[in-house]
Amino acid sequence: MDHPTNSGLYVHLPFCKTKCPYCDFYSVTDATLISAYLTALNTEAGLYREQFPGFDSLFLGGGTPSWLGEAQLAGLMKNLRRHFTFAPDSEITIEANPDDITAEKLTLWRDLGINRLSLGVQSFDEGELRFLGRRHTAKQTEAAIDLIRAAGFTNLGLDLMYGLPGQSLDGWLKTLEQALSFAPEHLSCYQLTLMAGETPALRTPMARRVARGEISLPDEETQREFFLLTANFLTARGYLHYEVANFARQGPQAGSLCHYCCRHNVKYWTRTPYLGLGPAAHSFDGRRRWWNFSSVKKYCLSLNAGEAPVAEAETLTPEQIRLETLALGFRTRAGVSLATIREHPGADAVVAALTQAGLVRVDRERVIATLDGLVVADRLPLEFGD
Ligand code: SF4
Repeated sequence: MDHPTNSGLYVHLPFCKTKCPYCDFYSVTDATLISAYLTALNTEAGLYREQFPGFDSLFLGGGTPSWLGEAQLAGLMKNLRRHFTFAPDSEITIEANPDDITAEKLTLWRDLGINRLSLGVQSFDEGELRFLGRRHTAKQTEAAIDLIRAAGFTNLGLDLMYGLPGQSLDGWLKTLEQALSFAPEHLSCYQLTLMAGETPALRTPMARRVARGEISLPDEETQREFFLLTANFLTARGYLHYEVANFARQGPQAGSLCHYCCRHNVKYWTRTPYLGLGPAAHSFDGRRRWWNFSSVKKYCLSLNAGEAPVAEAETLTPEQIRLETLALGFRTRAGVSLATIREHPGADAVVAALTQAGLVRVDRERVIATLDGLVVADRLPLEFGD
């Protein structure tokens, strides 16, 4: 299948100095695996050079990509450019932790064409950072942002987290205010969620603490208050609330979304093809989806044996595609087209009822979740189910 050059490339760099107790992303702390891993990654990239010849976004995610040494990252970028073509105006993002930021690294990243930073700030409260098991302090974050700006990066996203045990709305507001004092181009505000594994052993350390009753997360109504406060506060200060958890300054150009919306992540919500390299990475070619083993060792072994490290694949039925389009669309300010919604019998009555309930609005042939609708965005597609 031919792909438009607006496909996105995600590269998973699954290495962290330590594991944060709430995190269930796939990553390991053994840095001795990095070198063999990068070799395997290069092999995997080679498998897809014909299927995915060009991209206009690259997202180096993790894990902690900023932990990679200068030579490692330079080698990775060189190999990616050898296998694939990137559009001249590509958005190239690296996820970074504040404690990894140095002037030398920033200079290298710029030289490698990286033009967007996503900084894992989480909080500006020292106590909350300790609770989250983060390795950095708020002071380090401030110093890192100063270095990032001094290095000339003009597209900076800050990742923040709310809904921590014991966190007050006022405390969260302080973190938001402090974040805005740096005028970031982008903000991702995630609610702390703890994935409950099927058995206690599979849960994150923080989820186990919740299960033991040592700590508790805010109830649903309080979580809703955090969400509404966040959305109202940031939109009042000029940020575009373009996805449930994502906000962007509108910037100099007005495209279909906005200049500082994360071009790469928008592909996930619009079912635009993307290739994911690395363990646990997901890919989508416009029709079929597949994902890799969540194990660095198994990933390397597969590639060394000349096999793609694919764990599973699926091709959605037309009905699944329709429901997925609703589920993704209702998360964004672009919403879902009425034409798609009307594929479901009785859709007009459902839209009318949701509009009456204040959960959606219809604007230029699109059905868009209101702020109250975004709170329950995951449940809206169910209204159109059988
Ligand atoms: S640094 Fe990020 S990816 Fe690594 S354990 Fe912490 S939250 Fe997870």
